[in-house]
Amino acid sequence: MTAGLAATNITRTYVRHGSSRTALDAVSLSLPPAGRVAVVGESGSGKTTVLRMLLALDSPDAGTVELEGRNVRPGSARSLRWFRRLVQYVPQDPATSLDPRRSVLDLVATPLRLLGIDGDHRAKAGAALAAVGLDQRYLQRRPTELSGGQNQRVAIARAVACEPRYLLADEPVSGLDPELREQVLSVLAGLPSALLIVSHDLSAVVRLCREVSVMHDGRIVETGSVRDLLTDPQHPYTRDLIDAVPRLAPPQEIH
Ligand code: ADP
Ligand code: MG
Repeated sequence: MTAGLAATNITRTYVRHGSSRTALDAVSLSLPPAGRVAVVGESGSGKTTVLRMLLALDSPDAGTVELEGRNVRPGSARSLRWFRRLVQYVPQDPATSLDPRRSVLDLVATPLRLLGIDGDHRAKAGAALAAVGLDQRYLQRRPTELSGGQNQRVAIARAVACEPRYLLADEPVSGLDPELREQVLSVLAGLPSALLIVSHDLSAVVRLCREVSVMHDGRIVETGSVRDLLTDPQHPYTRDLIDAVPRLAPPQEIH
C-alpha cells in the first residue's frame, strides 16, 4: 500500500484535429503525508495535466492513481466525496475559476456543504478566510471586486476550509506582484496539509518544498532534494531552469 497520494506510470495522450500529442509519458509522482513536493517545468510540459490526474478530474490512458492505498478515478460527486474531503486544490488562475456572482464567504462555504462537513459552514469559511489574512470587510464582496492576490487567497481558503490532508496548487503565485507573492507563499508555508505545488518558476517553490521533480515534455526528467538539484543538477533542462533565475544559480568561481 502506498502512503499518501501517488500516480504510478501514468500516460495521457490528447487527440485533437486528427493528430495526437502525448501530454504525459509514464509519469510517477507521489505526495507523502505531510510532504512538501514541487513540480517545475516550462509551460506545456504537462504540469496541469498531471494535477488533473491526481485530482481525479481526468483518467489516464494507462497507469494508476491511489490515495492511501485506494484506487482513484473520475466519478460522481457522491462517489468521490471521501476523496475530495482529503484532497483539495487551488486551480491555476482563480480569477476565472471563482464564480463572479457569488460573495467571497459563499464561495468558501459552499464546498463545505457539498462535502457534507459538520458544523457551521459560514463560521468555518470565515475562519479559513481569516487564516489566509483576508479582512472581514471583504467577505460580502464578489471576486471581481478583489485584486489578483486577494482572489488567490480566496481560492486557498476555499481549498483549505475543509481541512484537507493534501493540498495541490497549480501555479499559485504566477502573475502576482512580489509583495502579494510573498504573502501567498507564507500562507501556503503555514498550512498543516501535505503540499504539492506546480510552477513554471523554480524560484516560487524552492523555499516551500523539500523535494522537486522537473518535468519536460510530458516526462519527469529529474527528482531530488532542492539542495541537490540546485548544487548538482543532473539533467541539462534542470540547469536551464536554474539559469533562468539568476539568484538561484550557485556562485561561479572567479579565476
Ligand atoms: P502545463 O500545465 O505544464 O503548462 P499542460 O498540462 O496544460 O501543461 O499541457 C501539456 C500538453 O497537453 C500541452 O501540449 C497542451 O497543449 C496539451 N493539452 C492539455 N490539455 C489538453 C486538452 N484538453 N486537449 C488537448 N491538448 C491538451
Ligand atoms: Mg498549467
